Amino acid sequence: MALIVQKYGGTSVGSVERIQAVAQKIKTFADGGDQLVVSVSAMSGETNRMTALAQEIQTVPSLREMDMLLTTGEQVTISLLSMALQQLGCDAISYLGSQVRIVTDSEHGKARIKSIDDHRIHASLDAGKVVVVAGFQGIDEQGHITTLGRGGSDTTAVALAAALKADECQIYTDVDGVYTTDPRIEPNARKMKSVSYEEMLEMASLGSKVLQIRSVEFASKYKVPLRVLSSLIDNPVGTLITSEENIVEQAVISGIAHNKDEAKLSLIGVPDKPGIAFKILKAISSANIEVDMIVQSVSAREGLTNFAFTVHRNDFAKALSILETVCEELGAIGVQSDDKVVKVSLVGLGMRSHAGIASQMFEVLHHEGINIQMISTSEIKISVVIDEKYLELAVRSLHSAFEMDKE
Ligand code: ADP
Ligand code: ASP
Ligand code: MG
Repeated sequence: MALIVQKYGGTSVGSVERIQAVAQKIKTFADGGDQLVVSVSAMSGETNRMTALAQEIQTVPSLREMDMLLTTGEQVTISLLSMALQQLGCDAISYLGSQVRIVTDSEHGKARIKSIDDHRIHASLDAGKVVVVAGFQGIDEQGHITTLGRGGSDTTAVALAAALKADECQIYTDVDGVYTTDPRIEPNARKMKSVSYEEMLEMASLGSKVLQIRSVEFASKYKVPLRVLSSLIDNPVGTLITSEENIVEQAVISGIAHNKDEAKLSLIGVPDKPGIAFKILKAISSANIEVDMIVQSVSAREGLTNFAFTVHRNDFAKALSILETVCEELGAIGVQSDDKVVKVSLVGLGMRSHAGIASQMFEVLHHEGINIQMISTSEIKISVVIDEKYLELAVRSLHSAFEMDKE
């Protein structure tokens, strides 16, 4: 008898029919003798719909009330799924995050899970029930309802699997696994049989939204075998996310990630002296804006430098107005900005032992006439910022140049 944690995403529970189909799938596992804990998202579109409602009332909604609002989406799906299971003769019970004490910190909108009390879940499993837990939500130590950030149900599932020492955590979604790149951008993307935690973590943090970053962090930390599979097909195999030593054939480049949420800001002609980077970034981070890539370069004029960085597009307007103030304070020449940029990244453990990947990447982009605006590298990734109109072209030409469609 195995203990399996499953997660079904928004599209997979997007209608009554889909919920019934999910219930049928769960029942097959339960009939086979497995113990099941199932975490679900809100119906697809619900979280966005509620966010828009809130914004009609408050342009910058209260974070606490936002969490109170958004967590209702998952309350709908857990109860409907439990009913669908009961209707099939499969005993089931639903719990909110607060009821199984998924305790988080108090960062509304992006809370981190601190602990999970598994007693109640184990008691229900021992009573022969399928346990359905609301994804995406928790409760802080003062009893306030929190959420884990968009896509957070993935993290709920992996955290439950870690806490319950489950045999496997299965993430059911609308694709049948992790692909070499987003199949919506490159139809020739290939499904991977397995991928290492480390590469998946890079891909998720560089924009591959198939798994929330924190779910991969959790899986890696607690060595939870994690599988991404389709909720729409029978007996899916999916992609296993596992430790590097379990990967049989390691490709040099495993995946291409992209992030459309980027915006670029530059301060032109800043006096080149100690403390400049600090003063610019201090102003930005004091406004709670996260900076991603940073490039400082020599300016054409002596004694001056240019300082560029990227932020999330949602923070663009705020960052721009801060930078204009900083520009005056530091006596810089001017500010340049562009919110029509994207980041495209190559990810692969094989980069550690293969030189020349960066130049090969730049050559491909050069052949397509794509200008690189910023570059950043780490041991297992290379990222470039380019004009958003070249996103598809860049992803597809890199995918084919690195022969990622081939096994
Ligand atoms: P869910 O609602 O089930 O959580 P998401 O929309 O969050 O589903 O994640 C699934 C989507 O992730 C896919 O439809 C796909 O477009 C996108 N995606 C991005 N990168 C990849 C990738 N490398 N492999 C598979 N899917 C990807
Ligand atoms: N419903 C939440 C969202 O849309 C959480 C999730 O789907 O994982 O982000
Ligand atoms: Mg998701």
